[in-house]
Amino acid sequence: MPESTPTPRLSTKISAIAESATLKVDAKAKALQAQGRSVISYAAGEPDFPTPEHIVEAALVAARDPKAHRYTPAAGLPDLRAAIAEKTRRDSGLEVDPSRVIVTNGGKQSVYEAFQVLLNPGDEVIVPTPFWTTYPEAIALADGVAVDVFADASQNYQVTVEQLEAARTPRTKVLLFVSPSNPTGSVYSPEQTKAIGEWALEHGIWVITDEIYQNLTYDGVRATSIVEAVPELAEQTLLVNGVAKTYAMTGWRVGWTVGPADAIKALGNLQSHLSGNVNNIAQRAAIAALTGPQDAAEAMRDAFDRRRKLIVGELNKIDGFETPTPQGAFYVYPDVTALLGRTFGGVTPTTSLELADLMLDQAEVAAVPGEAFGPSGYLRFSYALGDDQLLEGVQRLQRLFAS
Ligand code: PMP
Repeated sequence: MPESTPTPRLSTKISAIAESATLKVDAKAKALQAQGRSVISYAAGEPDFPTPEHIVEAALVAARDPKAHRYTPAAGLPDLRAAIAEKTRRDSGLEVDPSRVIVTNGGKQSVYEAFQVLLNPGDEVIVPTPFWTTYPEAIALADGVAVDVFADASQNYQVTVEQLEAARTPRTKVLLFVSPSNPTGSVYSPEQTKAIGEWALEHGIWVITDEIYQNLTYDGVRATSIVEAVPELAEQTLLVNGVAKTYAMTGWRVGWTVGPADAIKALGNLQSHLSGNVNNIAQRAAIAALTGPQDAAEAMRDAFDRRRKLIVGELNKIDGFETPTPQGAFYVYPDVTALLGRTFGGVTPTTSLELADLMLDQAEVAAVPGEAFGPSGYLRFSYALGDDQLLEGVQRLQRLFAS
């Protein structure tokens, strides 16, 4: 008799999910705060503002309406799908029927489901790097293979068509396109976007375009959607978006995917068994967000813009920080490789993970190390925190690295 291998206690696929490198810093920051230490954290990936009042009001009205206490269609309320179609026309330059929209439990669910419906085992996904932490895990969970293509600070963290072409194989099925980017805040120009879109079209590669930071751009820059730059690409593109970042609604959990009819049908089937509809009340709040006055969202964007200028200016005063000026999202992503191998307060960090640890220990400042998003040597600072704290934290770093 052959020896039987023991049955794993848990799913090997799920057990292989990597613990996020952000958790280490985050857990330590929280533990220090619990001890009463004055930690300033740049680790959060969410706006610090409350959700605008008229959106909250719409939810309160909905909560008192028994019609909102029921299931909605799994793909979402018809009025919300229509509002999303209109938003997609306005901001992504794509005319779509509301039937081409599915409402999801946040952009994160959109990302997960997109890989589930597009990938077969072994299919490759080109992932411009630095990348948002969730992508490689979502790809692995769909039995796909993430192929990282790295762009450093000298290329403003933007991959070129030549780099993409070098990474293409017969198994390449999907290109991920994220502009503005988390973690770098980088925004591709219309010309670059068009060149990348034409490359994907020419090679029959699907595009998943994550447009969650689309409305958070600065310096008069507009994020051009890849389907606006290359309209023929619409039949092989899934657009991911949501209300979380633009309207300070991270906790409400409303996102969506827009795409061709067959993919949206597949997504609907998947979601009908996975989670069904998104919270009915939150969907009504999202309608208010998309169709109501935009001045509160605009005021938040203005505040982010002010903080962006403040943090970039202050970080660049630190010898060893190379900080490109981001034109979108609410993150800055300095290259800190020049600081590695140097000694501060008796400690010599050799990775950005160790550098982040050192900053937390010696200056009580938390930032997320580059290891969470790709290669070591970088730090992600979110500037979604109040101006005073924002300045105080960077000043602490200026003192730490001056020593
Ligand atoms: N995409 C990117 C690039 C993100 O940074 C986030 C949030 N961190 C999401 C998608 C998901 O957003 P949510 O699920 O909150 O809508």
